[in-house]
Amino acid sequence: MFLETMKWSEVAGLSREETIVVCCISAMEQHSLHLPMGTDYFIGSELVKRLEAEFPERLLCLPTIWFGSSGHHMDFPGTISISSHNMVQMLGDIARSLHAHGFGKLLILNSHGGNRSLLARSVQELGEEIPGL
Ligand SMILES: [Zn+2]
Repeated sequence: MFLETMKWSEVAGLSREETIVVCCISAMEQHSLHLPMGTDYFIGSELVKRLEAEFPERLLCLPTIWFGSSGHHMDFPGTISISSHNMVQMLGDIARSLHAHGFGKLLILNSHGGNRSLLARSVQELGEEIPGL
């Protein structure tokens, strides 16, 4: 299931015990001379699509987040980098929103190496804030 294609009433009917929400984080940055800016986004989105195809009744997939922490690529025009602080805040807001609606299982996927440290920080902070998430 893909959240963006569902009606709220369909989301309301999902099992909170069984459903795993999938959130993939990528990046918009250079990937050498031969690959497009959205390479990480395309890889992450395809991974989510394939996961969903394997477990269509179990996974609730969010749209892939197309930006990430790419400060180390800012010399390349077109790169969009979000600060670690804002990324951690945004992930927290996503998790808190899901939790408010009763979803307690969140799988965060990462398709960009530069996001690793902020994801670790996010997971640690969310674990402290929302025990059991
Ligand atoms: Zn990357």
